[in-house]
Amino acid sequence: MIEGDFMVNYDEFGPEKIVEVYDHRTGLHGYTVIDSTALGPAKGGIRMTPSVSIDEVAKLARTMTWKCSLAGLPFGGGKSGIVADAKTLTQEQKLNIMKAFGKALRPVSPKYYIAAPDMNTAEEEMRAFVDGNGSMKSATGKPSNMCVKPGEKCGIPHEYGSTGFGVFHSTLVALKYAKIRNADFSVAIEGFGNVGSFVAKYLSEAGAKIVAVSDSKGTIYNKDGLKFQELADTKANTGSVINHESGQKLSNDALFELDVDVLIPSAIPDVINENNMDRVKAKMIVEAANIPIKPEIEKKLHDKGILVVPDFVANAGGVISSYAEYKGKNPEDMFKLVEKKVKANTKKVLKRVKADKIYPRDAAMGIAVERVRTAMIKREAEK
Ligand code: NAD
Repeated sequence: MIEGDFMVNYDEFGPEKIVEVYDHRTGLHGYTVIDSTALGPAKGGIRMTPSVSIDEVAKLARTMTWKCSLAGLPFGGGKSGIVADAKTLTQEQKLNIMKAFGKALRPVSPKYYIAAPDMNTAEEEMRAFVDGNGSMKSATGKPSNMCVKPGEKCGIPHEYGSTGFGVFHSTLVALKYAKIRNADFSVAIEGFGNVGSFVAKYLSEAGAKIVAVSDSKGTIYNKDGLKFQELADTKANTGSVINHESGQKLSNDALFELDVDVLIPSAIPDVINENNMDRVKAKMIVEAANIPIKPEIEKKLHDKGILVVPDFVANAGGVISSYAEYKGKNPEDMFKLVEKKVKANTKKVLKRVKADKIYPRDAAMGIAVERVRTAMIKREAEK
């Protein structure tokens, strides 16, 4: 038990280890929380913010325990935080900190912890972490030109869109479950970043009618459908999807009240809440963002007959891609693995919802907890 001014929740699952490192030379001050290694080495990103705390990291590490378990991966849950204001650092200072962090974590990484990008860290930061650590297995989300051998077992950066691809497959499974059979089902997508833009791309390629898309500036709406490539070009050329010519501009909030088959929140937390939940007309919601709806609101929506596919079921594509990279797979095999696992997990969760007449999040958590418990019992027996 570490003494200090923080409130980590200790229970039967973990955290197993909390590491705090400091390096005066580079200014590194970081934490790694290894919540659970029952299923395998703990997986989780490194965030760099001035306010990151051990309890924040511990909470996120626990979320990763359930996410990796539900995804059906041999990974446990972990997370790291580096206390630094990324905006005030030069890129060189940032990379030096990452390198020092990778080196400092050698006693636990990659054996017990495998890093990944998170807030304010991306592929070049992963390269620096691995350089400092010395093992290619110590982080995922590395640049595609960082390879074990030339052209082999290379990094798979997040920009490949694995999360959006997984959300797309989860949506297809859920549509079947909800008996929405029209080939040109209508969709509204909040957010047009890494996740939202790939969701829009894959869904429009599959024939869906994307009637609305939003970004931080507002929503663009066209009841007859928006073309993905035009939206992507408008975003690239003008900075926002709302400048698209063949659509009507609406507020950010208006997107959640549109009469669509599928609503896909892909940006910020808590967007469907006590204030707007009664105006949601979508038949189904697939959570691409993390915690776009609080669990108690999800339940109310479910009770009204709106199917909600929880975040850690739908958006696990990123962590599945990490596993593919860890195993040295190429991007093509990574996409196959994301499709296979996300489809299987979504089906398993929805099957349990139906059989046990329970809420989707409870079904998903039940599966995730069972897998970790079983692995813990096995580990005890093998001791
Ligand atoms: P991003 O930064 O690439 O994109 C965020 C998008 O949201 C941008 O288009 C931005 O304009 C838009 N946005 C910001 N405020 C908005 C608002 N008020 N209304 C509408 N749009 C708004 O981020 P991302 O990587 O796409 O992540 C989005 C969400 O998905 C986050 O919740 C993230 O935690 C979650 N997620 C991401 C991944 C991943 O691999 N990137 C994996 C799992 C979950």
